[in-house]
Amino acid sequence: MAGFVACLLGSFFLLPVVIFGGGNADQAAAGQLNTGAVPALYLPWVLKAGAMCDAIPAPLIAAQIEQESGWNPNAKSPAGAQGISQFMPGTWPTWGRDDDGNGKADPFDAGDAIMAQGRYDCSHADLMAGYLKQGLVHGPLIDLVLASYNAGAGAVLSAGGVPDNGETPNYVKVINALIAKYTKALEDSGAVPAGQRLAAPLREKALITSPYGGKRPSSAYGYHTGIDFGVGLGTPVHAAGPGTVTFAGWNSAYGNRIVIRHPQQDGKSVESTYNHLFSLSVSKGDTVGVGQVIAATGNTGNSTGPHLHFEVLYGGQFTDPGPWIGLN
Ligand SMILES: [Zn+2]
Repeated sequence: MAGFVACLLGSFFLLPVVIFGGGNADQAAAGQLNTGAVPALYLPWVLKAGAMCDAIPAPLIAAQIEQESGWNPNAKSPAGAQGISQFMPGTWPTWGRDDDGNGKADPFDAGDAIMAQGRYDCSHADLMAGYLKQGLVHGPLIDLVLASYNAGAGAVLSAGGVPDNGETPNYVKVINALIAKYTKALEDSGAVPAGQRLAAPLREKALITSPYGGKRPSSAYGYHTGIDFGVGLGTPVHAAGPGTVTFAGWNSAYGNRIVIRHPQQDGKSVESTYNHLFSLSVSKGDTVGVGQVIAATGNTGNSTGPHLHFEVLYGGQFTDPGPWIGLN
């Protein structure tokens, strides 16, 4: 379920106004972690490692640890891999640091290991994003990163994707399946949940494949005006709040798109937008209630795979939707 998809929205929609800083991107990446599924002892490290780069969110770090060691900081594999993140002794010195401050960089120190894992994954994400752009490898970015961890980046490059070596495809598959367990469920209710300004537009666990803000796996796309949720084609999309549909139709970049104007909050206008949709269930001028199904997700417009690009405009300016829908 964790295929890397991203709409290419960004530079096309650079705003005529000053945008807020991108500092919330890290929180958005970490805020989607199902913290209850992570052993409490390792939670701070998983959050920290999951905030290092946009491409590697905390649920991915956690799922990978479960597959590597089952959360056992003393794990040793027959091949010689060590610790909770299963570093090989030859690889460790490049990535391991004394992150837990106990005076030694040790693959058997869970904190050191998890941070090194984050560093290694983020480095592979940069490398693979570059290879993807050059057409040297194919497949979802997350799969390529995981395959690099398991088989080495060189093997991924020579295979042009996840190498079919009898082990790595299954490694990638198992971790992709585990990501759901470590992803926070979005609030499922017919109202805007207490403490939130809007309700989540999806009712199923959905990995954020690209958070709001300026940092992207590939900077070529510029500023990202919303959050991308990686979900399958045809997933129901729910209105994030009550309001009036002000746009429902085609846009060459956004694909099939819906814009809803909600009641003002703190004297400022509030709009939410839903993009790259497969089908629309509402029309311009319709009044919608919070949670009402308005569309199904798609891959239309400037999009590289099925996902929902969800935006919030506050006072007419794009803002990070994460805090609005309870993600951070
Ligand atoms: Zn997007």
